[in-house]
Amino acid sequence: MTDFQVIVIGSGAGGLSSALFLAKQGFSTLLLEAMPSLGGYLNPFRRGPYSFDTGLHYLGQLGRGEAFLDLLEGLGIADKVDFVELDPEGFDRYVFPDYEIDLCKGKEHYKEKLIREFPGEQRGIEKYFRVLDRVTEAMDASISGSGGILGMLGLLIRHPVMLKYGRATYQKLLDDVTQDKLLQAVLSALSATYGLSPSRASALIPLMVLDHYLRGGYYPKGGSGAFRDAFVDALQSHGVETKRLARVVEMDKKGDAFFIKTESGQQYTAKSVISNADPALTVGRLMNPEIIPSKLRRKAMHLRPSVGAFYAFIGTDLDLPSCGITDANIYHYHDIDFNRIYRARDASSMKEELPGFFMTSPSVKDPEGGHAPQGKHTLEITTMMDYERFEKWADAPSMKRGQDYEDFKNRIGERLVKAAETYIPDLSSHLDHVEYATPLSNAYWVNAVQGGCYGPEETPDQVGPGRFSDFTAGVEGLFLVGAGTLGGGVMACVASGVLAGRKAAAYLQSSR
Ligand SMILES: Cc1cc2nc3c(=O)[nH]c(=O)nc-3n(C[C@H](O)[C@H](O)[C@H](O)COP(=O)(O)OP(=O)(O)OC[C@H]3O[C@@H](n4cnc5c(N)ncnc54)[C@H](O)[C@@H]3O)c2cc1C
Repeated sequence: MTDFQVIVIGSGAGGLSSALFLAKQGFSTLLLEAMPSLGGYLNPFRRGPYSFDTGLHYLGQLGRGEAFLDLLEGLGIADKVDFVELDPEGFDRYVFPDYEIDLCKGKEHYKEKLIREFPGEQRGIEKYFRVLDRVTEAMDASISGSGGILGMLGLLIRHPVMLKYGRATYQKLLDDVTQDKLLQAVLSALSATYGLSPSRASALIPLMVLDHYLRGGYYPKGGSGAFRDAFVDALQSHGVETKRLARVVEMDKKGDAFFIKTESGQQYTAKSVISNADPALTVGRLMNPEIIPSKLRRKAMHLRPSVGAFYAFIGTDLDLPSCGITDANIYHYHDIDFNRIYRARDASSMKEELPGFFMTSPSVKDPEGGHAPQGKHTLEITTMMDYERFEKWADAPSMKRGQDYEDFKNRIGERLVKAAETYIPDLSSHLDHVEYATPLSNAYWVNAVQGGCYGPEETPDQVGPGRFSDFTAGVEGLFLVGAGTLGGGVMACVASGVLAGRKAAAYLQSSR
């Protein structure tokens, strides 16, 4: 007899959704979270009157009948959180040195807009959108279909686009559709959402991300914390036991029971385990190496993490709407060559000018959401940044990394704030609160390997079967969820929780 039928390790989007899925089916569930608060990248933080999101700026596929809303309805929480729809005519602004364009809702609408902007490239643009349709169809089929070699073969036969682009880089697709460098840049503008240059990203990922957002941009009222709380309230009402400050340090399986040990020495047993920790940690470090197939262990340990980020979290007394800040996210780039942008980000070549940044204001998107006091605003500015730049401070305790770390962080942060003055003149003199965070913050707060924003990086060899996309890890009853499975992004992680939850439920039923 085990303590619980299932233990879920980690409370990110994948952990929360798998725990909820299983608890709704009546399985006794324990959720163990290493940190004092739940949510992983959905966990906001408060500083005085300001509240900041850490890993949710906007979501897609939340309209009626769309995939993400269906997932939330299935979990019983769709009506527990309200979403504000961002301006359908422009919820993203892509800004380049001499050009800018807004992303609008609707595939046809955006395609027509691109054709109007680049009339000489009509054929290429049409081809791009045809590939987009075929790839999304194939990806939907691969997620809902059977895995394994036969499943994969069937997929390739039914969806030949996967033969061409399944293992290709995004640059290959861009070169197939257009030689126009500005159009290539526009089609790469969402790269910050996966953190890779076109020459390194899998062709599938930018297409999936664009498809996600072409259904419109949405922001949860009350921010990522309200979204997280909808899960947490539902977990409570379904009787899930939740323990915070319960970092799992060892996992083993003896007979048909899993033994899970936390840092404080607590031990729990269960019939099945779902881990939301990165596969490199679950498979590579936490699970007894003697029972993990060595091939899978090697695969997990060789996964390369995605890029980290540098953040400025700002509370300001400026009236941002009157400075021209709208609910649109701003993606600002100093170059149209994305391969050069990503090279400039390398630790070895830190130039004065940051190669680009992302800026959004939660309080403008959601004025009633409690992000800032009346008359003030929050602003979140992010730029991609390698872990290596901060590695030398990795072993120092959080918040006590020393003056040299603080000085380094402040130097980069001040440049980020200066860069934002392109849009908000005099911002530096109106910082009611400012706080900078680095890839070390990601590593500390969500146990992200090397502070990566999106799990293992989404290069062609690390998507689909190159990840842990079938949610299994070579030990019966052990399942994986989160960005290390289907990929980064809140919807993909919630989907992983539901799909892995289904597998765990089937396993628990068969082993009764
Ligand atoms: C700056 C930034 C902006 C983003 N913006 C967006 C956006 O606008 N839209 C979008 O869809 N996505 C966005 N993302 C991506 C998205 O937030 C993530 O992909 C997703 O939330 C990750 O969920 P996850 O299930 O992988 O869990 P994570 O959020 O990675 O959480 C894992 C959890 O497991 C816990 N854990 C790990 N190890 C242990 C252990 N040993 N014991 C116990 N607990 C453990 C961690 O503490 C953590 O709580 C953004 C990410 C970043 C970094």
